[in-house]
Amino acid sequence: MSEPFYARIRTELARIDAEGLGKPERVLAAPQGVETLVRDARGDPRAVLNFCANNYLGLAGDARVREAAARAARDHGAGLASVRFICGTQEIHKELEAEIAAYLGFEDAVLFASCFDANAAVFEPLLGEGDAIVSDSLNHASIIDGVRLCKARRYRYASGDMNDLEAQLVQARSDGAQAILIATDGVFSMDGKYAPLGDIRRLAERFDALVMVDDCHATGHLGPGGRGTPAMFDAPGEVAIVTGTFGKTLSGAMGGFIAARREVADLIRQRARPYLFSNTLAPSVCGGALEAIRIARSPEGDELRGRLARATQRFRSGIEDIGLPVLEGTTPIVPVMFGDARAAQLAAARLFEAGLLVTGFSFPVVPKGLARIRVQLSALHSDEHIDAALRAFAAVAAPLLEETDGRI
Ligand SMILES: *Cc1c(COP(=O)(O)O)cnc(C)c1O
Repeated sequence: MSEPFYARIRTELARIDAEGLGKPERVLAAPQGVETLVRDARGDPRAVLNFCANNYLGLAGDARVREAAARAARDHGAGLASVRFICGTQEIHKELEAEIAAYLGFEDAVLFASCFDANAAVFEPLLGEGDAIVSDSLNHASIIDGVRLCKARRYRYASGDMNDLEAQLVQARSDGAQAILIATDGVFSMDGKYAPLGDIRRLAERFDALVMVDDCHATGHLGPGGRGTPAMFDAPGEVAIVTGTFGKTLSGAMGGFIAARREVADLIRQRARPYLFSNTLAPSVCGGALEAIRIARSPEGDELRGRLARATQRFRSGIEDIGLPVLEGTTPIVPVMFGDARAAQLAAARLFEAGLLVTGFSFPVVPKGLARIRVQLSALHSDEHIDAALRAFAAVAAPLLEETDGRI
């Protein structure tokens, strides 16, 4: 009876595959790092240079972070078998909340199983029917989903377009909105561009709006002290809410947070559904994240951020010299544009053969026709790593792009 259902699913899968939109998973045979092992088609481990992790400061494989995570598991248990408010809060959770809040300059912070959950949690308890959310068109999927869960009116502005943001704010005010929240990624993960947070805050001041920033691709590695995009742009007014992750720079494990004023954090703890109805973070995750924050805040963090900036600069200028089309910017996310999904996928496969681990990104992660290989730099990439990657791009990707004109 349900056979037509399964047939429909198989048809859908076949279509995804035919359009080159499949997202096969590569299996690592070693810990995360810039040099790692990946199983090839025969199942044999192959040494590759990794240029697609969110491991910006290289802390995911750091011996101290791993030891701190292991120690936390030994001292506090594998997990809490509870949500936070029943019997799932230990001192290590309170410590991590206090630490991330202090690092980013907020009164309080609330932990989540992921930043996806943090973004799913943040809007609904804070905003109601009479309020408005004005959202950048390139915001992360989790913000889009979080906004959908909320009763506030929705407005969208073309990414980074301040004239459009202003127009949407005028509209929201004339529609009689009470509270208005502008929501944006600090760094857009697929384009590697900064949100113009100075201009956004100036507009927020003028329209008496609040600003919420998802800083997943900045916290720990960008901005002064690694304090992310709000610390980079000098402007009046505050960023009211920052959401972020422990799954990228700050240990690479998993887990997210909302940082905000105390009353906001308190209401989130009372009302946010992903907080109330989902298990507490494992102590190992908290222990690893605390150690990663300690390193990010220390002078060593500054040194790692300096190395990351130099690696980014070297790769960007090298790839421009090769003549490949890249989206301009200064963040450690460097999108090499292919256009056609199959071309990006074929280039990633050939680069893998050449010993480079990168991934082709296609719909629905990026718009159709804008497929790309997103290269991500790490503080642990040496000049030799970067030059090897550039040689691979020159040998493999450049001829492919020329042959196919970005279309296969
Ligand atoms: C990675 C990312 C997320 C999701 O974070 P997780 O902790 O992995 O769920 C949310 N927003 C942005 C902008 C991201 O880059």
